[in-house]
Amino acid sequence: MNDCIFCKIIDGTIPSVSVYEDDDIKVFLDISQTTPGHTLLVPKKHVANIFEYDDSLAQTILPKIPVIARAIKKSNPKILGLNIVNNNGAIAYQSVFHSHFHFIPRFADTDSFAMTFKDNSEKYSSDELQEIADRIHENMEE
Ligand code: AMP
Ligand code: ZN
Repeated sequence: MNDCIFCKIIDGTIPSVSVYEDDDIKVFLDISQTTPGHTLLVPKKHVANIFEYDDSLAQTILPKIPVIARAIKKSNPKILGLNIVNNNGAIAYQSVFHSHFHFIPRFADTDSFAMTFKDNSEKYSSDELQEIADRIHENMEE
């Protein structure tokens, strides 16, 4: 993946402010610093998004998320909470197509990060909700 910016950060061709790395992951500061301490965790293996994680990769990468989350929280007593964000697909705001998890420390309602969850609950009957749930369940891998 020669033109992947995160592969270049992993191999050192592009500099980054590194927090941690091991055989499987690299953790570095997001250049945007949406809030102070905004950090990215990336698998060293190039996968575009969460849909490409096989069991082995998931079992290697995902347990590291709480470890990094706790380290960030402990790093600054002003951090009150943490959003962990994983964008998959351009429609979902992914702009770098090498899978990554954002860790965005939260300091106040008025800090630079916000998410909107619109409440559409009144638009669904209980049957419609059950149908959606069943379709998801049917598509789960063994
Ligand atoms: P996303 O929009 O979820 O794909 O997030 C991509 C993130 O990568 C953005 O928050 C960028 O600020 C960040 N980013 C892009 N280039 C670099 C870089 N060279 N070093 C650190 N972070 C970067
Ligand atoms: Zn890559």
